[in-house]
Amino acid sequence: MADLPYVTIDGSQGEGGGQILRSALAIAAVAGQPIFVDKIRSGRKKPGLMRQHLTAVRAIAEICDAELSGASPGSQSLSFTPKTVQPGAYEFRIGTAGSVTLVLQTILPALLTASGPSTVILEGGTHNPWAPPFDFLKHAWLPLVNRMGPQVTVELQEYGFFPAGGGRMILHVQPAPLLCGFDLPARGELLNRNVSILISNLPRSIATREARRIAGKLQWESVEIQQVSSAGPGNLVLAQLQYQHVTEVFTGFGRLGVSAEHVVQEVVRQVRRYLVTDAPVGEYLADQILLPLGLSAAAACAGANRKAGGTFRTLRLSRHSTTHLQLLQALLPISISVKSDSEPGVEVVTIGPRNPGN
Ligand code: ATP
Repeated sequence: MADLPYVTIDGSQGEGGGQILRSALAIAAVAGQPIFVDKIRSGRKKPGLMRQHLTAVRAIAEICDAELSGASPGSQSLSFTPKTVQPGAYEFRIGTAGSVTLVLQTILPALLTASGPSTVILEGGTHNPWAPPFDFLKHAWLPLVNRMGPQVTVELQEYGFFPAGGGRMILHVQPAPLLCGFDLPARGELLNRNVSILISNLPRSIATREARRIAGKLQWESVEIQQVSSAGPGNLVLAQLQYQHVTEVFTGFGRLGVSAEHVVQEVVRQVRRYLVTDAPVGEYLADQILLPLGLSAAAACAGANRKAGGTFRTLRLSRHSTTHLQLLQALLPISISVKSDSEPGVEVVTIGPRNPGN
């Protein structure tokens, strides 16, 4: 395995963000493929490895016993030579409010098809404005991953809001020998819709104002305030729409200098944009299911009676997603097609094994 030639990945392609690095590492670990990643996050104001990326790199390296060079703060290139994925018990600490959910998404693909179960403790930020909040991970993304065969659960032990961090979650993975793809053409029946407002170390009146405002705007049945303990201040408005085939979670982050009403408006705008069409998959979810579906399509030759890849309908893909799908097509033996749906503003994404000759 270690004799495969290095594949070089240009971290500046497309959006030039951290996702290129994380997905490249995840695929390399699954495939046993050595990689060299250059120009890491060169599309960002502060390029190179930040604490979250560094933790993700070290975590995946530990899990597959990889040889690593260039893994230091601010580094803009690294090489990663994986060996066999070792399931087991792990613990990784970011040390800042860097996102534990992004570290989880880097290591999970390798653990999903490993030879045994794993338990991973992750410490850092659980609710960070530039990453999937824990609630999105648990209620929107993981149910789709679990549809592919493995059984993955997460427990939140401590909230960790940006900027203080100090959060803690536990991941349990029961792998499946092969990932099975799925189609997601429709939402199905609406089962539940609710708003949760999280507030920590801040006046409850902020949450009360948000609750009143969002109840008036959305007119949903349930708006609840949860006063939670954490190392620092935190405030989030989470709107969840649960359908038969998919759950979506939209988030607004309270922050200094931004009114409670404005935070609510940000969430309401996302919810309304989602409800204008009947596409099941929203902007962030689209970006995050590309990798698991891509891996299931890539393993096509390994399982005869198994669905490889799948088709889903989504709101128009973001630049983040188009960057991601270009990377996946470059690294995996898959093809991805994106077509306009008959409904305006909706796209149909199909991920499948690459045909010989393509
Ligand atoms: P960088 O620091 O380079 O910008 P990063 O490592 O923080 O990058 P990105 O490449 O920007 O990562 O990727 C962020 C990820 O977080 C994406 O997968 C995106 O879908 C997800 N994300 C961001 N905000 C939300 C949100 N509100 N809900 C769900 N997912 C989100």
